[in-house]
Amino acid sequence: MKILVTAGPTREPIDPVRFISNRSSGKMGYALARVAAGMGHEVRLVSGPVCLAAPENVRVFNVLTAEEMLAAVTANMKWCHVLIMAAAVCDWRPVKVSRTKIKKTGEVPSIAIEQTPDILTTVSARKGRRVIVGFAAETGDPIAEAARKLSAKKLDLIVANDVSRADAGFETDTNRVSLLDCAGVVRHLPLMSKDAVAGKIISWIEQTRSTV
Ligand code: C5P
Repeated sequence: MKILVTAGPTREPIDPVRFISNRSSGKMGYALARVAAGMGHEVRLVSGPVCLAAPENVRVFNVLTAEEMLAAVTANMKWCHVLIMAAAVCDWRPVKVSRTKIKKTGEVPSIAIEQTPDILTTVSARKGRRVIVGFAAETGDPIAEAARKLSAKKLDLIVANDVSRADAGFETDTNRVSLLDCAGVVRHLPLMSKDAVAGKIISWIEQTRSTV
């Protein structure tokens, strides 16, 4: 299969030295790209700013902002059979980016923010027969929230994780996730390495693609 993976955070600039971002390390997305390539798939990775080495046999497209990630994903949609959006896209960005460093004048600046484009919602409208997988990082009720996003974003599978746990989610090498598919099946996976989680996700996609 031709698999497009996104990974890492996005970075939304305020001025030349400051930005809005989030805690994503990119480890889950890079594990997906590495494992999928190791399982014999052709993989392209759209990566936000992370401190990880490019996986072998994977073509990497580096981006910074949500807008750039949307452009890179859109440009690769025709090519792919599968899109896995593991990136933690910033939800908000400053309305205006200052071209010069905002001075500390004593007055606290107020920064107007706006919503970034939702990449999944944008591309899933023209998904055709592609399999689309999303992630839901939650601190409340991960299953209920993930189920809502699965249907709102027209996904085939959503990977729910509780990021309030120390051993799962951001910056860790392990993850504890549940897989919810569009047929309503929920699979709770035990704590395992991100590579093992990636293997489960790619296997689920392989099985789904072979039955459609
Ligand atoms: O709505 P929420 O951000 O929690 O949904 C998470 C899923 O949506 C992830 O798969 C993420 O990559 C994707 N997403 C997106 N575009 C955004 C925000 C999130 O595609 N602007």
